[in-house]
Amino acid sequence: MSLVIQHLAKRYGDTTVFANVSLTVERGEFVAIVGESGVGKSTLLNCMAALDTWDAGSITLDGTALGSLSAEQAALLRREKVGFVFQAFHVLPHLDVAQNVGLPLLLLGRPDAARVGAMLDAVGLGGLGARLPQTLSGGQLQRVAIARALVHRPALLLADEPTGNLDPGTAAKVMDVLIAQTRLEGASLVLVTHSETAAQRADRVLHLAAD
Ligand code: ADP
Ligand code: MG
Repeated sequence: MSLVIQHLAKRYGDTTVFANVSLTVERGEFVAIVGESGVGKSTLLNCMAALDTWDAGSITLDGTALGSLSAEQAALLRREKVGFVFQAFHVLPHLDVAQNVGLPLLLLGRPDAARVGAMLDAVGLGGLGARLPQTLSGGQLQRVAIARALVHRPALLLADEPTGNLDPGTAAKVMDVLIAQTRLEGASLVLVTHSETAAQRADRVLHLAAD
């Protein structure tokens, strides 16, 4: 896996969000992107997953130019190669914990209860598979999201302020789980955050600044 971004620019009308962003993420590398609120971190991360469009430049994931994909092709590539962790967890409330974690495998037509169980154990949620999300704490919900993001062994894990809704103690523990599991699975990790503390643990820190 490698992710190559060259001279990427994003505008809304006359307003430039970012311009001339270039970076390469190698296989297994952990890169943090730090910047103030509003500089375009989430937008950049969404572009990396072809969830958003851009106005200039290119993004290549594993040799595939994301800009040339149809919406359906982009969805398939995401399903296979990308995992996402969001600030607000986005755990589905009507599915139990194991069903949430197993969802990416189900979408790929590869349901695997043993793999789901192993991921729950790995993130410290062994035995909680039958619980509904509403019975879990914020830290536990983000562990569900981390297990779900890695269960299908994606090449690339994208995390958008994953500890932003957690108290500092819980945030540190969730970062531990996120980093350890990503390394174990051999995935590349791109973390966007305004937290210098979270970013300190990356192999490389890039700063995104307003123009
Ligand atoms: P960050 O994640 O760094 O806080 P975002 O990527 O969410 O920043 O947003 C970057 C900028 O783009 C912000 O100034 C935001 O207001 C603007 N923006 C985001 N989405 C839209 C949109 N749909 N239309 C216009 N401006 C937008
Ligand atoms: Mg954001």
